Amino acid sequence: MGYQRLSPELKTLTPVWTGNVKGKCDRLRETGLLGSLRWWFEVVVRGLGGHACDPTGEKKCEYEEREGVEKLCAACRVFGATGWRKLFRLEVDGSGLEPVMASDRGLLLPSGRCHNSRAGGWYILPALYGTFSLEFRRRRSGDKKEEEFIQVLLGTLRLMERWTAIGAKETGGYGVFKTVSGLNFELPEQNPFGQSRGASDDENGPAALPGLTDFFFARVRLRPKEGDWWKKFKEVELTLNKRLPCKGGRQQWMREGHFQEWIEKGCFPLSPIVRNWLRYAWYPRLKGSISEGLIFGTAEGDRRRRTAIGISHAYRLENGLWEFRIWGCRPPDLEEGKWQEFVEGLHEALKPLNRQAGFSVWRNEDGLFGCVAEPGELVWREFNSERDTVSKISDGWDFFKSLVEGKEKEDGQGSAGVVGGAE
Ligand SMILES: [Zn+2]
Repeated sequence: MGYQRLSPELKTLTPVWTGNVKGKCDRLRETGLLGSLRWWFEVVVRGLGGHACDPTGEKKCEYEEREGVEKLCAACRVFGATGWRKLFRLEVDGSGLEPVMASDRGLLLPSGRCHNSRAGGWYILPALYGTFSLEFRRRRSGDKKEEEFIQVLLGTLRLMERWTAIGAKETGGYGVFKTVSGLNFELPEQNPFGQSRGASDDENGPAALPGLTDFFFARVRLRPKEGDWWKKFKEVELTLNKRLPCKGGRQQWMREGHFQEWIEKGCFPLSPIVRNWLRYAWYPRLKGSISEGLIFGTAEGDRRRRTAIGISHAYRLENGLWEFRIWGCRPPDLEEGKWQEFVEGLHEALKPLNRQAGFSVWRNEDGLFGCVAEPGELVWREFNSERDTVSKISDGWDFFKSLVEGKEKEDGQGSAGVVGGAE
C-alpha cells in the first residue's frame, strides 16, 4: 500500500489562465486546473462507454453509504461528489510562472466590427507563462478499478498535452502545455469501462453530454513569410495604426509592446483572429445551414455559453514553423449529418493544397493566412473518419490510446519539436 506521489513538471506553450471571479489571474489556482482535468476525464469516460454525470446538472451523483461507491460515476469516484472525497490530492506549484502582460483586466484586440457604435473586440488576458508543477498524492487503495481510473486520468492529462490545453478559457487559446518531466503512467490493457461507444451508436441520436468519439483534434502549422508576420493581421493593424472602425471608448487596446511580450515568449494571441476569420469570413461562404452561434459561441462578450470549438493561441516550433490547435465537438442539439458537413468544410479550409512537390498553398489563400504565412502541415485526428491522418479508428479505446500516444501520421511518431521562448 503506502502513498503514491507523482509530480509532473509542465511548461506553458501558450499562457495559462486560472483567474478568479473578478477575472484576475495573479497566481495559478488548482481549482481552474482541476476543473479542466475533470471536464476532459468526463469526456474520455463517456467516449469509452463509461458513465460520467454532469456535475453542474440536476442528475449529478451523490454518495450514499448504503448504496456504496459503485453507484458513483467514474468521474465522481475520482474527483469526488457530495459525501465522497476525491481519490487524490493535488498541489500546484506555480512559482516558475510570470505574467505575460502586466495589466489587471486584459487588453482589447479589435474585431473590426462595431457594436452599438463602439468598436468591438476581445480581451487578451494577462495570463501566466513559464513552468509549473502538479503534485498528485494519494493513498494506494489496492482497488483494481480505482488504480485503472487513475491511470486513465493521467493518460487524459497526456491527451490534453498533445491536443488541447489546461485551465480555464482553454477554448479561447490559453493553457497549451508540454510535459518537461514526471508524467509516468501505464494505461490498462483493456478498456476499464467495458464497451467503447461504437461507430454505430450515433443512430440513437446525439448524446446530451460530450464524449471523446464526438471530437476532432487538429494541429495547424504555418510558416511565416517574414519576421513581423503578425503585424499583417487586419485586427493587429487596426490597433497598431489606431484605426478603429468606430469609437473605441476608454477601453485599453493592445499596443505593439504588448504583442512583443508574447512574441518574446514564443507565442502569439492568435485564437480570436482565427475565430473571427472562421466565423465571419469563412463560415458564411460555406452556406451552412447551422447557426454559426451554435458552433462558434454567442456574441462577443457573452462568456456563459461554452463554444463547441476550441482554438488555441499560436506557439513557435522548430524550423521556423508556428502552430495552433483547433478541436471541436458536435453540440448536443446538432444532428450528425450537419456536423459532418461543417467538419468537412473546416478540414478543407485548413488543409494545404499540394500543387507541385515541395510547393503548397492554402486553399484559403486570400483568407486568413494568405499574405501572412505559407502552409506547413495539417494534422487531423477524428474518430472513425477518413480524414484522420493516422488511420480510420472505429474503436473508442484504440482512439484514446492513439491520441495519448500523440501519433500524427500513419508511419511516423510525428510531433514537431517545440521551441518556445526564453525561460
Ligand atoms: Zn457523477
